[in-house]
Amino acid sequence: MFDVLVIGAGPAGSHTARRLGELGYRVMVLEEHKAIGEPTCCTGILGKDCLNDFPLPPELIWKQTGTARFFTPSGQSFLLSKQPVQAYILDRAGMDRRLAAEAQKVGVEYLMGSPAREISWRNGGVEVIARNGGPPTRIDARVVVLACGPSNLLPRGLGWGDIGDSVLGGQAEVETSATLSQSKGDAADVEVYMGQDVAPGFFAWLVPTTPGKALAGLLCRQNPAGRMKAFLQRLYGEGKIRSTQVQVNYGRVPLLPRPHSYGERVIAVGDAAGQVKPTTAGGIYYGLICAEIAAQVLHDALQRDDLSERSLSRYEKAWKKRLGKEMRVGYWARRFYEGLSDRQIEDIVNHLRGSGLLDKVFQSEEFSFDWHSFAIMRAVGRQVGLPHLLRAVGSALLPGERASR
Ligand SMILES: Cc1cc2nc3c(=O)[nH]c(=O)nc-3n(C[C@H](O)[C@H](O)[C@H](O)COP(=O)(O)OP(=O)(O)OC[C@H]3O[C@@H](n4cnc5c(N)ncnc54)[C@H](O)[C@@H]3O)c2cc1C
Repeated sequence: MFDVLVIGAGPAGSHTARRLGELGYRVMVLEEHKAIGEPTCCTGILGKDCLNDFPLPPELIWKQTGTARFFTPSGQSFLLSKQPVQAYILDRAGMDRRLAAEAQKVGVEYLMGSPAREISWRNGGVEVIARNGGPPTRIDARVVVLACGPSNLLPRGLGWGDIGDSVLGGQAEVETSATLSQSKGDAADVEVYMGQDVAPGFFAWLVPTTPGKALAGLLCRQNPAGRMKAFLQRLYGEGKIRSTQVQVNYGRVPLLPRPHSYGERVIAVGDAAGQVKPTTAGGIYYGLICAEIAAQVLHDALQRDDLSERSLSRYEKAWKKRLGKEMRVGYWARRFYEGLSDRQIEDIVNHLRGSGLLDKVFQSEEFSFDWHSFAIMRAVGRQVGLPHLLRAVGSALLPGERASR
């Protein structure tokens, strides 16, 4: 019997497995795909706090950046720039492989091409059945970690309910045109596009990776395929990419936590628990933070041989203490932004830029790519002009309330 069975070899799963492997536990990771890190539709942008806390080797870092160019709905553009480096663009598949290799080094076993289908409690442990066409594989463990991404299938089987809110994403690797490469060289900016036409309520991006290559993607609630087609056509029309005939991958990102992240002999980490920054839908950092917390709580529970629901409830308390406020404030801001019309976005951007408030918040020491509640509270706080903001919006929109367009 394994001490711990982790379902899913993404960053949250492999990091939890590694930490428990280091502590001497017998750990197995079950992964439905045959290769780690593939397919992926993640952009792989991480902030500097994340890289400080969870260092990665330089060969996995494609670019470092402190600059992003924003395009408003009307097409005006402005640059936000801050030194030193604020964010890193990573080889996401390489990162997953690296995290798995670190776990394997401390004895964690990986079973690839094996989707977990069922979880049941028996003989003082948990039995997981993995099946991929052929005969089922049965694996027994003292405790199971669900690190299977945002899919609701396994958690629903446990009666944990679905993730409360999520968004769809699409992304393609594109070849950037000579014009873009020449004008900007290797230091091409990250580009962010706002507006109803491109990604209503969310945003689209063009993120340079390796020379001549970039990731073009967007988040939206509906029709990601149609929106990606239109976005790629726009980039092509503007001479930024060489072709629209590219492979688009699609995924889903939680915006709210799942109602439960623990039960008897089971916990969930990463996207499986909905541990994501709701503002940008970035989930790697929060998933890694929660993997650390999960490993500590499981270590203690395994030592005491108390893997009851009550014992594991400390996990949810701990991660909510660490991330709960960020997630609540971030979700409020996300819903507020989703309620804005294009005109209101223009007005707010003009106000924030014209008054110098945007720069003030962005340049302040507390501003962080990884932690947004400070910037949000400052942006709506009196010192940076709530009355002006509300005047620009035209009415005090409540989160979730949609303005007339
Ligand atoms: C378009 C897009 C862009 C993004 N960009 C960023 C970004 O720039 N920065 C950032 O921080 N986040 C980004 N994210 C979010 C990020 O990808 C996720 O938050 C992150 O991958 C979550 O990690 P995880 O380990 O929890 O889950 P995942 O990375 O989803 O890993 C889950 C693993 O479980 C496996 N699995 C699923 N079900 C089973 C099963 N039944 N049995 C066995 N294995 C199973 C899957 O194959 C997968 O390997 C983006 C997401 C999207 C959609």
